[in-house]
Amino acid sequence: MNDIFDTADGIEKSGRADGFDGIDKSDKFDKGEDTHEPRGIVFDIKEFAVHDGPGVRTTVFMKGCPLSCRWCHNPEGLSPRPELMVKTARCRHCGLCTRPCEHEDCKPYGRCLHICPEGLISVVGKSWTPDELAARILRDYDFLKSSGGVTISGGEPTMQSEFVSELLRRLHGLHRAVETCGYCSGERFTSVINECDYVIMDIKLADPEAHKVWCGVDNAPILENFERLRSSGREYLVRVPLIPDVTDTRENLAAISEIVGDSRVELLGYNNMAGAKYAGVGRVYTLPDKKNREIDLALFKHAVLSR
Ligand code: SF4
Ligand code: SF4
Repeated sequence: MNDIFDTADGIEKSGRADGFDGIDKSDKFDKGEDTHEPRGIVFDIKEFAVHDGPGVRTTVFMKGCPLSCRWCHNPEGLSPRPELMVKTARCRHCGLCTRPCEHEDCKPYGRCLHICPEGLISVVGKSWTPDELAARILRDYDFLKSSGGVTISGGEPTMQSEFVSELLRRLHGLHRAVETCGYCSGERFTSVINECDYVIMDIKLADPEAHKVWCGVDNAPILENFERLRSSGREYLVRVPLIPDVTDTRENLAAISEIVGDSRVELLGYNNMAGAKYAGVGRVYTLPDKKNREIDLALFKHAVLSR
């Protein structure tokens, strides 16, 4: 049902051909044109999150990621720009939404966002100032203070580092965590983790060539930033997604265990639930439905397995 995506926002939706191409170009999304105040594009805010750091938390999902992991569970978070999302499973292909529309909301997408009789169309990605988003989070201050805290996830938070740092500064008093893939300049990485109490960092593949094939980029900046994190003195957790025959091989896990040493590690079991979301943003999920092999936890000094 890709007809409703063909020309909607001028963005090609497969691979990394969404107009974003690099490690240090995201500041163009950080500045409000009139105020020079950093603005952030957020694609979701999840309350009562229990897998994004200690306790029960509010998790903010920043839009845009420099990687293109083929197993990504948040395809709507890959592009740094707001984009159309359509619940394609219920679409009856009436074509009403493909008509041009002059409404302010609809013009950027070249079609009507409001006409769908099933209410299947939305725009994912909302712009916030740090003050606006901090106020939204802090209305639950008492609960978050006692139950867990706040986590900035994505997408990749360091792609909007100026906004994220400003936001985290406004959340002092809460336990503040960030979930990062670590692919950014050292300066950008440090500016974000310096505002955090806790960092969750992914390490997916040790081999640089395999990392390029499966995640779209070299892993050298990630490994450099991991060393920065280790020497920062901050509490952290390494996460390794277990992708069948890709990251869950004994060879890869043994190599990652060498990199992380005695760090705390969480190995995340694979499920292919993400596949269903891809069609909604006009992308194609290409990983086969497979199960993880048996994992030898003894490869790591401190690892737990989460399914
Ligand atoms: S780093 Fe995370 S958000 Fe980015 S593409 Fe990979 S899985 Fe998706
Ligand atoms: S208007 Fe709704 S049902 Fe009709 S084609 Fe568009 S998304 Fe599908």
